[in-house]
Amino acid sequence: MDADVRVQPTELHEAYVFDLDGTIYLGDHLLPGAARLIHELRRREIPVRFLSNNPTKDPDQYARKLASLGLPTDVSDIANTVVTTTRWLLAHHPDAVLFPISEEPLKNALRVAGFRLSEDPAEIDIVIASYDRGFDYRKLQIAFDAIWFHQRAFLIQTNPDRFCPFPGGRGEPDCASITAAIEACTSTRCQVSLGKPDPIMLREALEGLDVDLADCVMVGDRLQTDIQMALDAGMASALVLTGEATADDVRALGPDHLPSYVLDRVDRLIPASIWDELGWTDTLD
Ligand SMILES: [Mg+2]
Repeated sequence: MDADVRVQPTELHEAYVFDLDGTIYLGDHLLPGAARLIHELRRREIPVRFLSNNPTKDPDQYARKLASLGLPTDVSDIANTVVTTTRWLLAHHPDAVLFPISEEPLKNALRVAGFRLSEDPAEIDIVIASYDRGFDYRKLQIAFDAIWFHQRAFLIQTNPDRFCPFPGGRGEPDCASITAAIEACTSTRCQVSLGKPDPIMLREALEGLDVDLADCVMVGDRLQTDIQMALDAGMASALVLTGEATADDVRALGPDHLPSYVLDRVDRLIPASIWDELGWTDTLD
């Protein structure tokens, strides 16, 4: 491992922002050490926030999932691209007629926020590409007509992920594959991308906390999203090797892209001196 990368912090940070999949859990199981880490941070009254690029669930669903895994969490401590996409549209295009190529949670959030959704290409202002397992030729045609034929709509995406990793090395095509299909037929480019690594996600996650970004840490399993976002924001970053990125990926990085820490398990975020005080070992979680 590079000399500039540490395998364990020596001090606690002021606030912790966690990616979920590959960082806190994988599929339906908590990753080793995740539960005691979160409990210990909360016991010390250190703010803990969660962040996901996945727009197929809303924060309520994440809160229920975390509770079912033994980590009850306030909905307000969870931000994802359903929230950031809706807020961005409210801030920048509150009167736009929208065509979300998405699953129900995003459509529902947009309706609740007061947006009109439409499948009529002649009146659509913004096409929203998202992670949509119901994507088909009909939806592609509507997007094509709204953008290319009517020369009216522009394209944004909820998140830049190419695929969503599953346990066992499998995965599912994610938002970027749908964006690419629309870009290919319309010869236009996606104008805005709302998930990580856009720093809008960090602002959303830390909203309401009186902390300095430089004293917080972003924790995740993906270099191009979780870690890049922290680097761009001037925030410490911790890569966990329990999801997508591997130690070989880290070795291949240039000095400007290195995370502050590379951890074999997420509870290594707690300094070794505190592990000793608490009697923690690698074999227990
Ligand atoms: Mg992840």
